Amino acid sequence: MAAICVFCASSRTLPQRWFDLASRTGEELARRGHTLVSGGGRVGMMGAVAVAARAHGAHTLGVIPEQLLVREVADLDADEQVVTPDLATRKTVMIERSDAFLTLPGGLGTLDELFEVWTTAGLDLHRKPMVLLDVDGCYQGLLFWLRELVEPGFVRKDALDLLIVADSVPAAFDAIESRLG
Ligand code: AMP
Repeated sequence: MAAICVFCASSRTLPQRWFDLASRTGEELARRGHTLVSGGGRVGMMGAVAVAARAHGAHTLGVIPEQLLVREVADLDADEQVVTPDLATRKTVMIERSDAFLTLPGGLGTLDELFEVWTTAGLDLHRKPMVLLDVDGCYQGLLFWLRELVEPGFVRKDALDLLIVADSVPAAFDAIESRLG
């Protein structure tokens, strides 16, 4: 059992299949007995993960900045809700309170969160597993571009390899669990 932080879209206007992916993720996390650490909002895929995780018995921890309580519709049903003074503290608390990170498709905020945990792992500031769920090649463009940055020396190959890429929800959790031991 681990505390798994899920980063994903807050957008409310996505095709239904992305909300379904988020719900499947929350359900699988609960089925495997993990705790969810999330952005603490009810909106978008983020909300769908939390609702599904709780519906299937998971403990949920939401970490939301004070200024987003209304905009991201604070998840008042969360078992624990931490309100932070700002966005930077939100990321710090999410990293501290989690054993592993799973990134689903998302927008700029999701990428910001992914790069925060990835860059800090690359600097040896933590050794927590990080998995990217790349469904339908959603992240192929980003991964291709980052791999291109290795050859000229902008990106270290060992830092790049810290991010595990999975192509299904069960494979993503298998990858996390195998690294948590
Ligand atoms: P998005 O992927 O843009 O839909 O955003 C996903 C989540 O990331 C939302 O809960 C945003 O509030 C959050 N977010 C956006 N920017 C930041 C940031 N700089 N630091 C922490 N969280 C952020």
